[in-house]
Amino acid sequence: MRGAQGDLLRLIAGGHAESRAELARLSGLAASSVSLRVEELIGSGLLVEEGSVSSRGGRRPRRLRVSPTAGVLAVADLGGHHARLGLLDLSGTPLVVEERPCEIALGPEATLNWIAASFDDLLATHGPAGVPLRGIAIGLPGPVDPASGRVVSPSRMPGWNNFPVAEHFGAHYDLPVLVENDANLLAVGEARAWPGCETVLVLKAGSGIGCGVIVNGVLHRGRGAAGDISHVRVRSDSSVTCSCGHLDCLEAYASGAALMGVLAEQGIAVGRPSDVVALVDDGIPEATALVRNAGRLIGEVLTVLVNFINPDAIVVGGSLSKAEPLISAIRAAVYERCLPLATRDLEIAVTRSGPDAALLGAGILLLDAVLS
Ligand SMILES: [Zn+2]
Repeated sequence: MRGAQGDLLRLIAGGHAESRAELARLSGLAASSVSLRVEELIGSGLLVEEGSVSSRGGRRPRRLRVSPTAGVLAVADLGGHHARLGLLDLSGTPLVVEERPCEIALGPEATLNWIAASFDDLLATHGPAGVPLRGIAIGLPGPVDPASGRVVSPSRMPGWNNFPVAEHFGAHYDLPVLVENDANLLAVGEARAWPGCETVLVLKAGSGIGCGVIVNGVLHRGRGAAGDISHVRVRSDSSVTCSCGHLDCLEAYASGAALMGVLAEQGIAVGRPSDVVALVDDGIPEATALVRNAGRLIGEVLTVLVNFINPDAIVVGGSLSKAEPLISAIRAAVYERCLPLATRDLEIAVTRSGPDAALLGAGILLLDAVLS
């Protein structure tokens, strides 16, 4: 759907408007045009009208919502060793979410075929009868070219470089397919939990390190790799070669994969980043020192970004975000080094949206793709 109808539906689906008056104000369309198009959207089954919104005096307008029976979105967020998969209705409400083990290192064909089979499985078990699948979205832990839907030079994803992910899904489904960097999905999903914050940096600290950038309420993709801070060079007394071949990238010191590597050298075997958090919680000093150092290095990189873009909030997600020393070290570095005007009202905190934030972000971006 192109043009004004799609714009109005997006405003409602995105939670920005729930009445004709709000639609008119936000879209700039005349009230009569809004009413006409809303009636058409209700007639085509995409919108429903129910209850009422609060109103100061006068007649109480009825509340517009995207119809729960208008369609289903299938969304997936892939990590190194697991995937979260879900079905959402068009308003972005999850119908079902599951986490399943999945090794991304098995390569794109095996992984994507498994995802398609998992979607079919979820649709057969949880898909509402007669409600059509409208689109597919998948988040990947690597840089994604938004034009082609291909992953470009990812770390720890053997065989994925330049693989046509969107085209591969296109062979399974004749539907819009959205392929996006996982930190970008997290940023879009999380930003809704920070009302009043227009510019937000959302860090994903898991096996790798990613950052989604929300500027004036909108995801900033740049040329596809915006926010990819993993290969920024950091200060260090030692010297470590990164997976990209350069020396002393942030990822080589502060990613979950790097921390696990150092712990293994010290005789402490862990399988996933959440195990590192468990070691910190258990007071294992080697783990705590490593996580604190990772937070300091991440914070030093963030100081540049904070001075440059002056965000309202820095939100930290990903499995390592549950380690308290990581967050306090990030805060210490940023507050110590940044300009007072930049940090006066800056919030640095862990994510508020819970484990499904990236799937909710996938739903928001996918609905945009479906409607355009
Ligand atoms: Zn690197």
